[in-house]
Amino acid sequence: MSLMKVSIIYDIFSVQNQRFELFEVESTRTFCFLCYLHMLHKYHMFKCPQKIKSLNVEDLDIVLEPGIGWIELNEYLKPYGLFFPLDPGPGATIGGMCATRCSGSLAVRYGTMRDNVINLQVVLANGEVIKTGSRARKSAAGYDLTRLLIGSEGTLGIITEVTLRLQRLPQHSVVAMCNFQTIKDAADVAIATMLSGIQVSRVELLDEVQVKAINIANGKNLPEVPTLMFEFIGTEAYAREQTLIVQKIVSEHNGSDFVYVENADDKEALWKIRKEALWACYAMAPNNYEAMTTDVCVPLSRLAECISKSKQELDASSLLCMVIAHAGDGNFHTIIMFDPEQEEQRQEAERLNHFMVHTALSLEGTCTGEHGVGTGKMKYLEKELGSGALRTMKRIKSVLDPNDIMNPGKLIPPHVCI
Ligand SMILES: Cc1cc2nc3c(=O)[nH]c(=O)nc-3n(C[C@H](O)[C@H](O)[C@H](O)COP(=O)(O)OP(=O)(O)OC[C@H]3O[C@@H](n4cnc5c(N)ncnc54)[C@H](O)[C@@H]3O)c2cc1C
Repeated sequence: MSLMKVSIIYDIFSVQNQRFELFEVESTRTFCFLCYLHMLHKYHMFKCPQKIKSLNVEDLDIVLEPGIGWIELNEYLKPYGLFFPLDPGPGATIGGMCATRCSGSLAVRYGTMRDNVINLQVVLANGEVIKTGSRARKSAAGYDLTRLLIGSEGTLGIITEVTLRLQRLPQHSVVAMCNFQTIKDAADVAIATMLSGIQVSRVELLDEVQVKAINIANGKNLPEVPTLMFEFIGTEAYAREQTLIVQKIVSEHNGSDFVYVENADDKEALWKIRKEALWACYAMAPNNYEAMTTDVCVPLSRLAECISKSKQELDASSLLCMVIAHAGDGNFHTIIMFDPEQEEQRQEAERLNHFMVHTALSLEGTCTGEHGVGTGKMKYLEKELGSGALRTMKRIKSVLDPNDIMNPGKLIPPHVCI
């Protein structure tokens, strides 16, 4: 490809203390720019140590570079009595979290990334650097570009600076756990808890297979039955009061063994089990097995039905499958263990994924509550959103990125035409 070089230096911006020059080139695909973007994505340069630009304690916000991980951000914020309430995978960075519109166990209380980002600085495909808002907590100033970029999976621009809304660390918290004979009972309790008006900060559901994996991986002896885990926050009295109300709801829905802890070490030990659930699944499968993780989300009232239907199919499969849910949001994951060298196992894993997605869509749900579309879930978007919505996405994409250089081939199915 002959590149007629470089007319204008478009912009220079700093990434992990290095400086990159972006050039406009006279080529059909703006080749230089593409190389830089691919390099940034491929080598995860945004993941290297980066800067906090300003912490505004009195405004409860922070301006930072996108490569900072949420775990290191929370370490930094702790001495100020603050935290950022999104907790996806342990290695996730703020930039990736914006790009995937992630959430996690605390979303039931604090919302998803969509609700916790105030402003973004973004480099567009033409090299222009824009900001999507101000530092004000709310704004009615024009189109909401922040939310357009959140969840765009790197297809509309590269996020180079983020302003986040922060929360005060709760005064007190209680972590509770209880067991059920059926997964439907467990899901029903999650729904009843949300309907009771209690502002839980976490409601996590684990099926019996997941609990067994945790026992094997951690040398625990938890009852291998569907299990719910809760977190309640507030003042000491308020957190306890909520705990006791939920204990009553649990007993009304055939729940048992309701225990709760308030000591910091005990609470951390319980949540550690939940956070490491995915890794625990590997302990139940042969060494070379891989995990296919899938996530769907349905309206809360349909959660019990969606999980029960999916569970029947998963239990009947020859593959080992675990269910784990952010149940207060109607969002659940399945982890399907399979041997990547056995084609029929891969196909069975894909069939189960397909079944779950179609079950969720038939219940007015979505093919992904938090993991995003990527390439794997593009095929479900038309059924979920309709062709008009996809054409609108394609129009936006073609205006902002006419040469298709931003994460090409992702998110919008290739067959969609304007
Ligand atoms: C054990 C485990 C548990 C998880 N639990 C959860 C959960 O509870 N909730 C949840 O939502 N997710 C969860 N995830 C998924 C994952 O943590 C999230 O999707 C997270 O948001 C990805 O962040 P990342 O930094 O790893 O992004 P990456 O995987 O590096 O990137 C994701 C996408 O964002 C794009 N991107 C990255 N940085 C930028 C940028 N600066 N500008 C533009 N585009 C960019 C990339 O090109 C890519 O398309 C889990 C994952 C694991 C492994």
